[in-house]
Amino acid sequence: MKLPAQATSTWAIVVHGGAGVIERKDLSAEQESAYRAGMNRAIQAGAAVLTKGGAALDAIEATIQLMEDDPLFNAGRGAVFTAEGRNELDAAIMDGQTLAAGAVAGITRTRHPISLARRVMEKSSHVMLISAGADTFSKEQGLEQVEPAWFYTERRWRALETFLKEKGLPIPPKPAGARDASTTANLAHDEGKKGTVGVAALDMSGNIAAGTSTGGTTGKRWGRVGDSPIIGAGTYASNTSCAVSATGTGEYFIRLAVAREICSLVEHKGMKLQAAADEVIQKQLTAIGGDGGIIAVAPDGQMAWSFNTSGMYRARMSKDQPVLIGIYKDEK
Ligand code: ASP
Repeated sequence: MKLPAQATSTWAIVVHGGAGVIERKDLSAEQESAYRAGMNRAIQAGAAVLTKGGAALDAIEATIQLMEDDPLFNAGRGAVFTAEGRNELDAAIMDGQTLAAGAVAGITRTRHPISLARRVMEKSSHVMLISAGADTFSKEQGLEQVEPAWFYTERRWRALETFLKEKGLPIPPKPAGARDASTTANLAHDEGKKGTVGVAALDMSGNIAAGTSTGGTTGKRWGRVGDSPIIGAGTYASNTSCAVSATGTGEYFIRLAVAREICSLVEHKGMKLQAAADEVIQKQLTAIGGDGGIIAVAPDGQMAWSFNTSGMYRARMSKDQPVLIGIYKDEK
C-alpha cells in the first residue's frame, strides 16, 4: 500500500531533544551552548540528506543516530537508568507513505536503537519487538552491538541515585566497566529524564516520516515502556495528515494517543498543524495533568512544535527557512 505523495521542491525537518523543566537559571552559558550545538549538529545531518533529495526515513535515521551517540541526550549513549541500574532503550520509526512502522522496547545492546526499529519495519513481518527477543533480532541483523557500559554516563547515574534515595530503594551496582562516556556529559544540565530525541521530516518526493528514541524515565521498573515506541502515542506518520514525535511523561501520551490524535485533527477536522498540536498539548494533555511536547511536519511543508513545560530542546529548518533552535518557552 502506498498513500499518494505530491512531489514538492521543498523539504522540512523538525527535531526535539526532550522537554521538561528547563529554565535559564539552571543552565550555564556553556551548558546552553553545548545543547544548541548538539541540536544544530543533529538537524544539519538530517537536512544534508533532504537537500540531496534523500528520503525522510534516511534523514530521520541519520539525525537520530547522531543524537543517540551524543551523551547530552536521553537516547542511546546518555540514556537514563532503570531502578536496577540498567539502560533499557526504546525507539520507533514510521513511514508516512506506506504506514509501515517499526518499534523496539527494552533493548540493551544495540548502539543505534532507531536503526533496529527501522530493521523491524523493513526486515520483519512485525511492528514491535521487545527485550531479549529484540536484542537477538538486532544481532541477527548484524547491527552494531555494544557492551551495556557503552551507554553509561556519570550524571544519569547520579540522577538515578537521587531518585532511588528519595523512594527509599536500594542503589544497584554500576554496570561492569562503567566509565563516563564523554566530557561533554559534564556540560549537561543535571536533570531527571529529559533528553528523549525525535524527528519529523518531509522529503522532496512529498513523503513524511517520524522517529523517536529514548532511555525512558529515570528509575523505571518492572519492564516499564513509555510512549516513544508506541505507534500512535509517541510516534506517528501518515501522508494523509502529518508526522509527529513526542517527549514527556509517556504514561499521559499513551492515554491520549497524542501523535495519532494530532494527525486525526488535521485529517478529519482540516485543522492547521500548529492548531492541532496546540489543541492536544495545551488543552487535552494539560487537562489530564500530563507534561511534555511534540514536534511535527505536514506533507505541504507546515512545521510545528508545542509543549506545556518550561522548555523543550528543539530545532526546525526547511528549504526556505534557515535553522531555528530553541530551548526555553519564551523563544520563538
Ligand atoms: N516520553 C519518554 C518516556 O516516557 C520520556 C521523555 O520523553 O522524557 O519514556
